[in-house]
Amino acid sequence: MSEHSSEPTRGSNFLRNHIQAEVDEGRLQPQDLMTRFPPEPNGYLHIGHAKSICLNFGLAEYFGGRCNLRFDDTNPEKENQEYIDAILEDVRWLGFEWNGEVRHASGYFDQLHDYALHLIREGLAYVDELSAEQVREYRGTLTEPGRNSPYRDRPVEENLALFEKMRNGELDEGSCALRAKIDMASPNMNMRDPTIYRIRKAAHHQTGDKWCIYPTYDFAHGQSDAIEGITHSICTLEFEDHRPLYDWFIEHLPVPARPRQYEFGRLNLNFTVTSKRKLKQLVDEGHVDGWRDPRMPTLQGMRRRGYTPRAIRQFCDMIGVSRSDGIVDMSALEHSIRDDLNQNAPRAMCVLDPLKLVITNFPQGEVEMLSAPGHPSRDDLGERQLPLTREIWIEREDFREEANKKYKRLVLGKKVRLRNAYVLTAEDVIKDADGNITEVHCSYDADTLGADPADGVKPKGVIHWVSASEGRQATVRLYDRLFNHEAPGRGDVDFLQHLNPDSLKVLDNCWIEAGLAEAQPEQNFQFERQGYFVADRFDHSAEQPVFNRTVELRDSWSRIEAQD
Ligand code: ATP
Ligand code: MG
Repeated sequence: MSEHSSEPTRGSNFLRNHIQAEVDEGRLQPQDLMTRFPPEPNGYLHIGHAKSICLNFGLAEYFGGRCNLRFDDTNPEKENQEYIDAILEDVRWLGFEWNGEVRHASGYFDQLHDYALHLIREGLAYVDELSAEQVREYRGTLTEPGRNSPYRDRPVEENLALFEKMRNGELDEGSCALRAKIDMASPNMNMRDPTIYRIRKAAHHQTGDKWCIYPTYDFAHGQSDAIEGITHSICTLEFEDHRPLYDWFIEHLPVPARPRQYEFGRLNLNFTVTSKRKLKQLVDEGHVDGWRDPRMPTLQGMRRRGYTPRAIRQFCDMIGVSRSDGIVDMSALEHSIRDDLNQNAPRAMCVLDPLKLVITNFPQGEVEMLSAPGHPSRDDLGERQLPLTREIWIEREDFREEANKKYKRLVLGKKVRLRNAYVLTAEDVIKDADGNITEVHCSYDADTLGADPADGVKPKGVIHWVSASEGRQATVRLYDRLFNHEAPGRGDVDFLQHLNPDSLKVLDNCWIEAGLAEAQPEQNFQFERQGYFVADRFDHSAEQPVFNRTVELRDSWSRIEAQD
């Protein structure tokens, strides 16, 4: 594959180009293309997996081929049904449908066992009784060849008998293993007689107690590909050194097809971790509220945070597919969701830190129905009703008794426009015994709905607001990045040291437009001047509205302070 560019250019995809060339040269009928997405159900999927999903399903979609979903389930101790269910949900949520039934490597255990017997009979596999420590010793190093195990040249019959005993549970875990007989002097460590079956006396989530020997990833993967008729087996670069082994098995076994392995650069994102082991640690040690915590880079977490499948697919498209690993800036991901929600999320108003404002010349008890567009450029999102009343909530930070000219909000004695409503003048403040402002008293100019004040003095700012009597109280969760270091764990530091202590703030006394209480869980909004928010998938209800902040309106991590 070295003829292909390794430069990651925006949106480029060297695998698509490669397959296109095969099609153009008549070596592949596009409808024969078969890919697969092969997750191990030992954790939830994360944003890196989304890249692999979009790539495998995307290629099948693009060429009119097919993509299988196969659980690579050869480590029963680490896998479970909860992970399987979440993975199925995630793939569908991203908008992909797999070809036919969901498949499992465990569904091929009988066939894989037969393949192992085949290798033994051909003199290409042997039961080794070296201890794990001895195996390491015999393996050699990158600079020194390994040594043959004294068990390497056992007669075929003896190997068959021992493998049978392994299979029947007559031997202890770790006492022996079946190894392929390849080349202990190979410069590629993977070719130094790799283990293909080991004893694990553990029940399996799919096959129960049927097996106490399980194939290794290397032995299961390529053969599963062949059984399914996969043409292009696409994996991440760390498997490049496994490709000769992949090919060796395919060459020496009576498999029904000849899949080929291709590697691409994995997705790494700064300011987060995409290692299942670390994500599991965050969950197990309670640093986050489970795999679905909105701060997690899991697809379930991102979904709950308010990310849309469209934004994630768009992001995967944008970063492209290349032959080199790179680190993508978190702000690129945030850009994708902002871009999507800017175009598609209805607008609404929410006051996060309420300060009461009384419009002294507005009649007590009266409700004036104003209306506002659902979206500034999307007529299809309709109009929304905004009840204006004598008492409203505004953002505490939107009022000051005095301020310089840079502050374009409400100042005592000055004017401001209420978003989608009238111009107000601040006339008085009420304070409590400690000097905290408890109310701002204003008068409004009834001729300023959609018009400038008659005196020609335009207010400098526009602030958002919610009616105190007609609005609804809500909980808003302000999420921020989970880590405050671009490379969590860099240097000698434990990655947990880089957890952002301010990654979650829960505000219980927020005020929303009444209509927002009726939002469906997972509905996205732009809260004007605040950011993009989503009605929580699990906790939101009309009685107790709960919104999660997906992302701020502007990138505050680039340190360019956005001030209005
Ligand atoms: P494990 O260490 O548990 O194997 P994994 O991240 O490789 O973790 P898998 O479930 O084996 O998880 O991954 C399924 C598929 O997703 C594989 O083909 C893998 O190469 C791909 N994948 C995993 N992480 C990334 C990533 N960061 N970027 C792109 N693809 C990835
Ligand atoms: Mg893996």
